[in-house]
Amino acid sequence: MEREREHLIKPVLGRHYPAIAYGKGVFLYDDAGKKYLDASSGAVTASIGHGVQEIAEAMQEQAGKVSFVYRSQFTSEPAEQLAKKLSDLTPGGDYWSFFVNSGSEATETAMKIAIQHWQEQGRPSKHRIISRRMSYHGITLGALSMSGHVLRRRRFVPLLEDFPVVAPPYCYRCPLRQTPAACGLACADDLDAAVKRIGAEHIAAFIAEPIIGAAGGAVVPPDGYYEKIKAICERHEILFIADEVMTGIARTGEMFGMQHFGVEPDLIALGKGMSAGYTPMAAAMAKDHVMAPILQGSRSVMSGHTYSANPQSAAVSLAVLAYIDKHGLVQAAQNQGALLLERLRQLADRHVIIGDVRGEGLLTAIEFVADRQSKHPFPPELGVTNKIIDLAFQKGLLVYPAAGGVDGDGDAIIIAPPLTITDEELELLVGLLDETIREVT
Ligand code: PLP
Repeated sequence: MEREREHLIKPVLGRHYPAIAYGKGVFLYDDAGKKYLDASSGAVTASIGHGVQEIAEAMQEQAGKVSFVYRSQFTSEPAEQLAKKLSDLTPGGDYWSFFVNSGSEATETAMKIAIQHWQEQGRPSKHRIISRRMSYHGITLGALSMSGHVLRRRRFVPLLEDFPVVAPPYCYRCPLRQTPAACGLACADDLDAAVKRIGAEHIAAFIAEPIIGAAGGAVVPPDGYYEKIKAICERHEILFIADEVMTGIARTGEMFGMQHFGVEPDLIALGKGMSAGYTPMAAAMAKDHVMAPILQGSRSVMSGHTYSANPQSAAVSLAVLAYIDKHGLVQAAQNQGALLLERLRQLADRHVIIGDVRGEGLLTAIEFVADRQSKHPFPPELGVTNKIIDLAFQKGLLVYPAAGGVDGDGDAIIIAPPLTITDEELELLVGLLDETIREVT
């Protein structure tokens, strides 16, 4: 029988994607009855697992009151409560929140607030944003301008703002050719050098993911890196934006990824785990001192979307935060993350193509290499990452691709299951991954 023509644009056109019928905990079930262990929480999003009844109830309760109010006309109880709750969850408090619908909008809004912060003080020339090679801050044009993700930028380079980039803290293949023993944090000094070259009077902010996600695969910076970065930012009057879209809300075993480094960002971008995938919800958070010139000036952040501060999504987010608290999921991410890293390191003993195992909490990754000694990557045309992901998928295991390599020329996968994963489910995950890597090799 001839197949009906399609109307939905999927990631790869013409490819068959199974339809998911329902999800429960760490598992998804397609309409043919196949079961998948969601070891990537989708795109590192479904952090409390699938099909949680409390969230469905919170959604229904809010829908019974009101689902939509327009932020230029009204506020709502859930949005007000969520902004206060998020501020209270940070170690230092005193953050404002601007709610949006995706991580890309969150980083782009943070960028705009940073630029506006300087404009309102009569310093409009401070409008450039420094980011890092090997970074991903989103797919919209402003967010992509701040991203070093080579593959995702390539087609749109003519439309992107030419923002400067500095070296990432990627110790496995240090872009500045230092060794861990004689590190000296030259990657942080690279920011200082860039600021001096461009002139601090032209720079509004520096943006970084606390732990690099899609563009590198759970790349954890060396000790002292963020302290040095923050000091450089303060010395040059540059705001520090932490892109916590992937690391935020318990994923790494702290509520915010930056807590591992004891540094307080001026602005924070959140998404993904904020609503754990139950509705679109994201936030740009800004400290009091960032908002002060705007409060004393125009009193209006020049941004916003029709669905900003949606009460339905805010109610879901509040329910997700309550669930995380009730079930001790920050601690669970620490405990299960430690167990997962231990098991992945054991896999590295068995498979020579594993070059590096890294991560923090339940944000972990494996980087694959053709030669472990020289760390030489596989030729890109072999498509090793995709082969592993596809074979794992056939076995009912979902893992997430990461670029790996400073300029996206390596192979890595992210393993980031829901924070609710049990020991038994974790052993199943590692067993399936072991089988997959053995067969690919
Ligand atoms: N920032 C980071 C660190 C991300 O990992 C992502 C998505 O993967 C984004 C921003 C963009 O978020 P979204 O896909 O929700 O627009």
